[in-house]
Amino acid sequence: MSKPVHHVVKRPGRRHGDPEADIPIAEDLVTVPGSPTINGDVTYYSREYPVESQTVEKSADREWGWSVYIKEVYDYRKKHDEVSEPLIDAAAITGEIAPTGEVDPQSDPTEEIRTKARELGFGEVGFTPYDRRYTYASKKRWAKFTHAICLALEQDYYQTQTIPSLEAEFAHFGTYEIAGELALRLAEYIRSLGYYAQVHSPNDNSGVFIPLFVNAGLGQLGANGQLLSPHFGSRARLMLITTDAPVQYDEPVDYGINKFCDQCQVCVVRCPARALLREKVWYRGVKKNKLVYDRCRPVMVTYEGCAVCMKVCPIQRYGMKPVMEHYVETGEILGKGTPNLEGYELRDKGYFGPGELPHFDREMFEFPHGTKEEWLFEQFKEAVEKNGAPSEDHSVEFAKELHRVVKAGVSRTDE
Ligand code: SF4
Ligand code: SF4
Repeated sequence: MSKPVHHVVKRPGRRHGDPEADIPIAEDLVTVPGSPTINGDVTYYSREYPVESQTVEKSADREWGWSVYIKEVYDYRKKHDEVSEPLIDAAAITGEIAPTGEVDPQSDPTEEIRTKARELGFGEVGFTPYDRRYTYASKKRWAKFTHAICLALEQDYYQTQTIPSLEAEFAHFGTYEIAGELALRLAEYIRSLGYYAQVHSPNDNSGVFIPLFVNAGLGQLGANGQLLSPHFGSRARLMLITTDAPVQYDEPVDYGINKFCDQCQVCVVRCPARALLREKVWYRGVKKNKLVYDRCRPVMVTYEGCAVCMKVCPIQRYGMKPVMEHYVETGEILGKGTPNLEGYELRDKGYFGPGELPHFDREMFEFPHGTKEEWLFEQFKEAVEKNGAPSEDHSVEFAKELHRVVKAGVSRTDE
């Protein structure tokens, strides 16, 4: 049964030079542009409980992850880290590099930067205020400039459809590597226009990026916790450049995703770990579907990054335009219930079609929590509770391990 269209969203084509795309949004999907937000709550939570990178807050399981990876993933991740290190170092100092050109008062930096970014290959480019409420506590002093350029680089379509697999991890981390290089080139270009440009490396995130992308109109937040952008859904890697260039801001858009996800729910029912929640909740001032980290993380680490929630999303698989057109024409979710969209294979577990999910033992979900120091103290406390006062050997072993952990510091590479 066809549905009345409330509005049509016009977006630039998928690649630079492609024709514009018209996306019809059905009347019954309309909510608000961007995300339902209580601004005061976002401010309150960012002050009282500032966001922090998982590499800092959850360093215990970051380290544990390396012991769980299969050899091929371990080797590839090591290689990726080697490639990323110089990119991260180069990005870290970009905020200090002075502009190389003179500002031309006649020119429009917004369109010049947008065009250059598209030419370099970024599929989505948007401009928004740099909202420091989403900056990680450990990066607040580092982050400069008041304007954010949001950049999404699409990752390979075919490799992504093999999720979860090593092949798909090549697409995932390989895209971050390319994005890191392209951003350094774009920053050089911005400096040639007479402005500063600080690269927030996608391999060492400075904060939570998705709210900025939503505010820049580049998509809406899906129930899988990912940005659903018009052409490739969540099959993209996100990064920022902040600048003092006087850019014109884009506006948030209502793509109908807030309600579409309530009806679709494919990622929720297909998640092998049952980690995604059906109902939206208010969290830090934003209404969204939440993920249960303790369910997701072990499956993600064990099965090549998992990401089934990305693979089974119709917006990722078919693009937003065909999906929304199909919804307007039929009231149905394109691909829902089909093996084409919902099927996936887990190493050693086999194939799971629509309605089928793997089973995991309880032990699968037992893993270290918090920072490495917190986890070490927790284990020491448990041993003392169980066995009484520690022996000298045990105390020395604990002190040595603590010294190792404190000395090692924090890994910079995000996942
Ligand atoms: S990554 Fe896998 S386990 Fe985690 S939420 Fe997505 S589908 Fe579920
Ligand atoms: S799979 Fe469906 S519910 Fe999940 S994010 Fe994609 S559109 Fe939303």
